[in-house]
Amino acid sequence: MPERRAVAIYARISQDRDGQQLGVRRQLSDCRAEADRLGWTVAEEYVDDDISAYSGKARPAYQRMLEDLDAGHIDAVMAWHVDRLYRRPSELEQFISACERARVSDLHTVSGSFDLATGDGMLVARMLAAVAANESDSKRRRGKRKMQEIAEAGQPHGGGTRPFGFLPDRVTHDQTEAEVIRQIAERVLAGESLPSVGRWMDANDIRTVTGKQWRTPVIRGLLLNRRICGERVHNGKVMGPAAWEPIISTETADALHRLLTAPERRTNRAARNYLLSGMCRCAKCGNKMVSSRRYETRRYICRSGLDGGSGCGSITVTAEPVELIVARATLMRLDSRELQDALAGRVRDDAQAASLYDKIAADEGKLVELAGLWASDDMTTDGWKRAKAIIEQRLTENRQRLSRLSGTRQLDAYLGQGGALQAQWSGLNLDRQRAIVKVLVDHVVINPGVIGARSVAVERVRPVWRF
Ligand SMILES: [Zn+2]
Repeated sequence: MPERRAVAIYARISQDRDGQQLGVRRQLSDCRAEADRLGWTVAEEYVDDDISAYSGKARPAYQRMLEDLDAGHIDAVMAWHVDRLYRRPSELEQFISACERARVSDLHTVSGSFDLATGDGMLVARMLAAVAANESDSKRRRGKRKMQEIAEAGQPHGGGTRPFGFLPDRVTHDQTEAEVIRQIAERVLAGESLPSVGRWMDANDIRTVTGKQWRTPVIRGLLLNRRICGERVHNGKVMGPAAWEPIISTETADALHRLLTAPERRTNRAARNYLLSGMCRCAKCGNKMVSSRRYETRRYICRSGLDGGSGCGSITVTAEPVELIVARATLMRLDSRELQDALAGRVRDDAQAASLYDKIAADEGKLVELAGLWASDDMTTDGWKRAKAIIEQRLTENRQRLSRLSGTRQLDAYLGQGGALQAQWSGLNLDRQRAIVKVLVDHVVINPGVIGARSVAVERVRPVWRF
């Protein structure tokens, strides 16, 4: 063995998967002893701290060593084992070319040396690197393979919390929870929104396996998981029938999948698909009706308390005819004599708006002043209440006047344009249609329908005009 005067020792700490932690100190001391035995002089020690050999993280000391090799500062490299030098066989090639450029042929390890100048030495180094890489790869593969086998057999996966709907054995149904899954599947397919289903679960004290409230994405995940229709899923792929009974049928699961993954669900569907969302009122109870889909039919419904709403639950109407009726009525009104008369009384000028602003601000100030007087005993509670009521009444009126004023300005662009808008209506996007309707319509009262009526009668729809 020729004398070497500038030996580089390379050491790397990594997480040892076999549990034989090979400390840097041990690597260094073994390498130093080996250099001593050979009579080599160590020029520098390069140490990287690298938790996982496959993490792909940069190894600054290793890079520095390659640079020093290129600069001709090194005439041999020593490491405890080749697996310290390269994490992947491809990295060995990088190292070998650096050695070639620097005409360094000595690679020495504690267990043997490689003459990189000869084909044999290189081959052994390459094989060792390949073996080292393969060992840690195969260890991971063995783990993965085992999981795959379990999945292919339809057996449940062992770790973590049990899935909702199943007992801890992950196979036997939890009867109560399984019934909940069936019910929410039915509700969602009937057009109920996920947040509404969540409110229903909350109201019925239904909690997740870890005792948490059901949030919308979690409900969605539950309904989209094929486990509930008796399929074994592994890494997002269905492996086949599972060892457990299905909670819902495959057909139901498919329908849920189509519904919940439809592209129009990605945004606020209610606001995007419903011309009158938030604008319909139940004629029976006065409650705001919510937009809701039943299969392919869009509807406005008065949702009762049982369903997570606060209405009487007795009125439901198909959305499309109502929207047509309201749109048509809006456009007709734009060109109507009634609207002109209604607007005639209004002074469309900024001076009036400014004076309203002043009055509102003054009254707001008075309310604060009044509270101060009452607090410092300069005023009786009765007197305070009476004064407060008067000011509040005036405030409300002035605020309404002001909002009507601004509304009028919005309306100017559309006045007398009803006929023209009617001609292009179906070509306008929903946002634009909504904007036009909202200029004129404060809300729409929906009357109860005649039992068995096939279409929505015009009498059922009563727009309440802002002007
Ligand atoms: Zn109602």
